[in-house]
Amino acid sequence: MVEKKGRFIVPIFITYQGCPHKCVYCKQEDITGVSNALTEDEIKEIVSKAIGSKKYSKAKVREIAFYGGTFTNLDKEEILRLLRIVRPYINSYGFDSIRISTRPDKINPSILGLLKNHKVETIEIGVQSLDDKVLKASGRGHSSEDCIYAAKLIKEYGFRLGIQLMLGLPMQDEKSFLDTIQKVIDLSPEFVRIYPTIVIKGTALESLLLDGRYTPLTIQETIRICSKAVEMLEVNNISVIRIGLMNSQILEANYVAGPYHPSLGHMIRCRVFLERLSRLVNKTDIKTHTFKIPKDKAALFWGHKGEGLRILKGLTGATNIRVLKERGELEVRLEF
Ligand code: SF4
Repeated sequence: MVEKKGRFIVPIFITYQGCPHKCVYCKQEDITGVSNALTEDEIKEIVSKAIGSKKYSKAKVREIAFYGGTFTNLDKEEILRLLRIVRPYINSYGFDSIRISTRPDKINPSILGLLKNHKVETIEIGVQSLDDKVLKASGRGHSSEDCIYAAKLIKEYGFRLGIQLMLGLPMQDEKSFLDTIQKVIDLSPEFVRIYPTIVIKGTALESLLLDGRYTPLTIQETIRICSKAVEMLEVNNISVIRIGLMNSQILEANYVAGPYHPSLGHMIRCRVFLERLSRLVNKTDIKTHTFKIPKDKAALFWGHKGEGLRILKGLTGATNIRVLKERGELEVRLEF
């Protein structure tokens, strides 16, 4: 059997459904641009469109994902309705499995048993932080213990575990965030997503901001802290599959403050790459250091709007950086 490469995920947003809370930063319908329950026809249309898209490939692991709500807190009837609607794509179209996202406090043995019987193979939980004071200040309505219990149970039942985290939450400093990253590493999820906190119009976080009781992170702070987190996770073989919110016109129309930038994920990836590069340079006893950069990493080297050279100079202390060969594999010389 040929091993499949990459994943093709069809996202179906069941926005806000099943959610028993109102986190201080949340206005789900403004983030995803969808607010009503989806009918069977609408779901089938979403999947059919995805199958007709250019990125669709049978060579990839193909999954249908229910995102955006608290899937496991829906009525059992609704859970079964949604799973049955997409089941034919598994049976007849060769899709591999279903994935869902949910809150950590809505995971229990009985729901995991049900999901296991309906081809769900991946469960993402919105942990956001493993610091109880941060969870409380963010109005999450669950504890870090709930997250750890859920993560362990999901793994015990043999699901792939995904963990969603947020950076820049109220009461969260760099240490709190990086401590959370270390605890997440101990839970061994298959992957992590990191979302910077954005202040959206009409949320409790906007009121905190206006009262002077919340200060969002800047883009530069987000890049600096998030790149440390990505490095910690990836050296422990945990994939970071998303950094930053999806670009959306509705989100932009409701944006108030915070580190929102369409290229934020790329900027963080560049920073991680350049920091790795800088660690290869032994600058104590050399005048120059030359290295080669594979073609597929060139964009990370150049950085967002070409700022890679400036960043690398700052990280290494190089007085000059010369790109000796620009085509294909790059050849770069640092001078000290
Ligand atoms: S758990 Fe929080 S972030 Fe998620 S949908 Fe509910 S209120 Fe929004």
